[in-house]
Amino acid sequence: MAAKINILNLVDFEEVNKLLEGFNQSTGFVTAILDLQGNVLSKSGWRHICTHFHRVNLESSKNCTVSDTVLANEMGPVKKYHFYKCLNGLVDVAVPLIIKGEHIANLFSGQFFFEEPNRNYFKKQAKKFGFNEQEYLRALENVPIVSKEKVKIAMDFLLNMTQLISEITLQKLEQEQLNKALMKSEERFRAIVFSSADWVWEIDKDGKYISSSHKSIDFFEVPEEEIIGKTPFDFMPEDEAKRVASIFSEIAAKKQPIKDLENWKIGKNGELICVLTNGLPILNDEGKLVGYRGIDKNITERKLFEKELIKAKEKAEESDRLKSAFLANMSHEIRTPMNGILGFTNLLLNPDLNSEKRENFIKIVHKSGQRMLNTVNDIVEVSKIEAGIISVRNLKIDINKEVEEMVHFFKPEANKKGLNLMIDLLLPDNKRHIETDKDKLDSIISNLIKNAIKYTESGTVKVGCRLNHSFIELYVKDTGIGIPAHRQDAIFNRFEQADIADKMVFEGSGLGLAIAKSYVEMLGGKIWVESKEGIGSTFYITLPVKRHIADNASAEKENSSKYEKPKSLKRKLKILIADDDETSRKYLHLLVSNFGKEIMEAETGGKALELCQKYSDIDLILMDIKMPLMDGYEATHKIRKFNKDVVIIAQTAYALSGDMEKALESGCNDYISKPFEITKVENLLQKYFGKQIQNEQLIQ
Ligand code: ADP
Repeated sequence: MAAKINILNLVDFEEVNKLLEGFNQSTGFVTAILDLQGNVLSKSGWRHICTHFHRVNLESSKNCTVSDTVLANEMGPVKKYHFYKCLNGLVDVAVPLIIKGEHIANLFSGQFFFEEPNRNYFKKQAKKFGFNEQEYLRALENVPIVSKEKVKIAMDFLLNMTQLISEITLQKLEQEQLNKALMKSEERFRAIVFSSADWVWEIDKDGKYISSSHKSIDFFEVPEEEIIGKTPFDFMPEDEAKRVASIFSEIAAKKQPIKDLENWKIGKNGELICVLTNGLPILNDEGKLVGYRGIDKNITERKLFEKELIKAKEKAEESDRLKSAFLANMSHEIRTPMNGILGFTNLLLNPDLNSEKRENFIKIVHKSGQRMLNTVNDIVEVSKIEAGIISVRNLKIDINKEVEEMVHFFKPEANKKGLNLMIDLLLPDNKRHIETDKDKLDSIISNLIKNAIKYTESGTVKVGCRLNHSFIELYVKDTGIGIPAHRQDAIFNRFEQADIADKMVFEGSGLGLAIAKSYVEMLGGKIWVESKEGIGSTFYITLPVKRHIADNASAEKENSSKYEKPKSLKRKLKILIADDDETSRKYLHLLVSNFGKEIMEAETGGKALELCQKYSDIDLILMDIKMPLMDGYEATHKIRKFNKDVVIIAQTAYALSGDMEKALESGCNDYISKPFEITKVENLLQKYFGKQIQNEQLIQ
């Protein structure tokens, strides 16, 4: 119980008074109860001799005070009876009143004599204090003479009765306090249950609800009174009910508490909710299980959030894994060709090299550069796919011709390795034309053939295509090293290779198949592999045939980028090269030197703008996009304000996020991506100045 209560305050002294009065009347004993400070709590008369003589006379009353104090000081819980002959010659007795082990007051009785009093002594006392002797002696006679034993019995009786009355009162009070505390605790419990978002319930030994909080309505749209008699399993899907029932029967058999039991119930609108159940067994007096009392917490949101988190975590782990794979791969794929480039350019510096060696070394440097460019191209391609900036450009194409061209193109490479690259199967003539994105298909097939050659030591590589319902199925079949079954899905992921050990043997970024897969899917098809280690692999792709294009339909437009060597120039061009990188400027300068009558250079956009303002006869600007102070977009935009005729070709570093579109928007006529090949530059010159050149030739 809380703070210590003052027992004295709780004793019903009215009842005690009645007792003492009654006792006084039936036995002639006068009694009083005084607290430890001497305050009278209850009394039943005083002796006449005291009230009319001893306590009224100034001198004799001093004796009374001394007696009271001496007696009170002697009192304590250890000794029970305290007899005392007062200074006025009478006998008092006191006993400590101890309730619940606490000495709270003293019960006094007196005054009496144990034997016949000496009347002469009292006569002398009457004289001493100036009392009327006769009246004083009469009062003396009223003082009873009792034996010590009798006093003890009387005191015991009084003491026991007082204690009894006190304890009964106390018990009553304690009970009231308990009831109040109980009511408060119940109120608190109800308030908690009411304000709780959880559902509180009680079930009997058969698992039937015998009590339910109002939250059942929020959980199941069932009011609390209608829950009674149902079981938890009535609110679960069948499989879940079976699962939970078996867990519950195990717990109940051991009379264990239900701890954090996650289970799914059918909630509002038939939607599944995940609840966390906790409960305690209810045992009867014999220790038998008679039910459970517990709460259900709706953790659906948390559960869904957890799922999201797990997904995010897996994704993060996947990215982490990919990042590591990427770094490992890139490190290898960039360092290896870099090694070639740096190593052999160093060797090239040797002036004593003969021309054959020199040519050989240059070829190696070129090949290494090409390999690095392939890797960079692949990365950029993957980034573009991820950024969703790749669009499909459908053209009518001849699939058979596509396959034939590819096989023709890769034949020398295959032959060099001693492999037989051949066409296995082609489409019937009237089914050979479909509409698809030629560039993407080229990229897919060349990737598969390149891989087949790369991963085959000896034997054949067959390329074929056939009709399969509404799809064209293209395949590349090799007799190479094959792919372990458990890696056959992973190889289509970015940066993943079949075997990490291969990385040292076969060059590659692990991006080719990922790009091929994205492309195939963009074209509406699928890609997969069938492979056996040591036997070989067959990669399949399908392409949807929306409609076959009749055989006599006009053939696809020739690739506009096909190279036409420009005619020799009569009028040479005034060219401005804007680029902050000196090497790039030098390289471009060399590439266009044949076509230029005057070639100017600017290392910033601002300088390019200045030169344009100065020379209105500039024919062509090769404008780098990324330049300090003023970039290529801004420079072009400003130039277009006063010069609409000059041909501006943007140089982009293989646009990642719409560089090309931005270049065209800012006013460029075209774009060319780095690194430049002579053919690309010449094609562009042909496109913009060819006719003019030819016309001018005609005029002359
Ligand atoms: P990589 O640049 O490594 O060749 P790819 O994405 O093209 O990247 O291929 C991924 C991996 O798939 C390769 O590293 C290789 O382990 C495996 N693979 C691809 N084609 C073949 C094949 N024809 N035979 C055996 N393994 C192949």
